[in-house]
Amino acid sequence: MKKRPATLRDLTRLLVDFRNARDWEKFHNPKDLSLALSIEAAEVLEHFLWKSHEDVEAMAADPAAVREIQKEIADILIFALLLAERLKIDPTEAVIAKIEENEKKYPVEKARGNARKYTEL
Ligand SMILES: [Mg+2]
Repeated sequence: MKKRPATLRDLTRLLVDFRNARDWEKFHNPKDLSLALSIEAAEVLEHFLWKSHEDVEAMAADPAAVREIQKEIADILIFALLLAERLKIDPTEAVIAKIEENEKKYPVEKARGNARKYTEL
């Protein structure tokens, strides 16, 4: 990799180039990209399965364990970006729109310091 990408659009371009060079676009339909995204999210969960709170805290302090989770987070982001690209969703705009939606659902004066759902505020 020559240049480090700076934006989600740059990352998506890099992923699409990687995919297209391997002729994998034919596999990247919305269903399979969604399944892959969910499977990668489950791979994060696998790191925490049957672990105590103390085990998890030890993992969080272990650079080797964190690196393994980092790989799964990268996989999640990769499939989320590929799914967005396939559906012509701008991921930056999608996140901004969701933050704005959540700001309305969770106004600071009602939501600060509690984890209740917006329907219970
Ligand atoms: Mg993975």
